[in-house]
Amino acid sequence: MSELDDAHWMREALAQAQAALQAGEVPVGAVLVRGGREIASGRNAPIAGHDPTAHAEMQALRAAARQLGNYRLDGCTLYVTLEPCAMCSGAMLHARVPRVVYGAADPKTGAAGSVVNLFAEPLLNHQTQVAGGVLAEECGALLSDFFRARRRSQRAQQLAAHPLRQDALRTPDHAFANLPDYPWAPHYVSDLPALAGLRLHYLDEGPRDATRSWLLLHGCAGWSYEYRHLLSALAGAGERVLAPDLIGFGKSDKPKKAATHNPAWHRQVLLELVDRLDLRQVVLVAQAGGWEALALNAAGRFVGELLLHAPEAHGPAFDAPFPDAGHRAGPRACAHWGEGAGTRLTPLRALTERCVLDDAQSARTVAERAMEYFSL
Ligand SMILES: [Zn+2]
Repeated sequence: MSELDDAHWMREALAQAQAALQAGEVPVGAVLVRGGREIASGRNAPIAGHDPTAHAEMQALRAAARQLGNYRLDGCTLYVTLEPCAMCSGAMLHARVPRVVYGAADPKTGAAGSVVNLFAEPLLNHQTQVAGGVLAEECGALLSDFFRARRRSQRAQQLAAHPLRQDALRTPDHAFANLPDYPWAPHYVSDLPALAGLRLHYLDEGPRDATRSWLLLHGCAGWSYEYRHLLSALAGAGERVLAPDLIGFGKSDKPKKAATHNPAWHRQVLLELVDRLDLRQVVLVAQAGGWEALALNAAGRFVGELLLHAPEAHGPAFDAPFPDAGHRAGPRACAHWGEGAGTRLTPLRALTERCVLDDAQSARTVAERAMEYFSL
């Protein structure tokens, strides 16, 4: 098989990838060739068929085996626009496909050398030849264009659901990509009366019907990220955990002017959020020198307060929401409030603990002590 032939058949696979694209699937296509003839083709189709195995290669292998009346596809070459995954590579090994040619490498799930190389496992395989990089640029561009367009349309949908106010900034999503130990789905709300259209982000983990819930208030220069270990520990123990980013922080919208911020307004936003989500038996978790000034415990839904003395953490993830000074109006405003800006109106059960939030073990220990202390 010459290089010219390989490029020719890869173009046929690309046509299949285009067809997948037209159908709204991730654009990957494959063809199976024997003796200079196309026997079968396949295109990626997991979405339409609700079928996680409907990769282009699987579709082509199935069609070819049906066509030949034999699951063994001796003498065939499989052309696919993207490096095959472990499932497809396994299927090719079972089908005894002697040669695989792929276009773009797949650094995330490629099983022909990028992540693992199943074809180089002597115990699994005796004879499959692999060639990668044929028309790699075209194959890869089709995929990266697809993902770029999809991100753009997701952003547009987000913006339509929560328009950005003229007097506010919104940290772009990519600033938060790949944060370690922060796997949770974002929740957004912009229709609480006190928000006046600003978009608030919060994490809401653990069972909705838990008898007790925890409201984790980040520090004055931080965001919900600093609670990732404590949140894991509490939610893992069956507790409902809410970790909002206050307006001006984290993934929430950031008014440009520090004067927009005041404790009474943040308090009102939080109370409306707690009402909206119907949190009950709430333990407020705050940090010394942080938002304990909000005196949230005045409201009837709270049963106690856990006050943490925790050293401020630093690192790129903590700075992610604040790409420049314009995004820092919230932390600037909060730094001047100090303690005692609010008053505790109701005597509540209170627990004070020292811990290192950035340390998983320390966070787990505090979670255990607090769950015991505030047992209902
Ligand atoms: Zn696959």
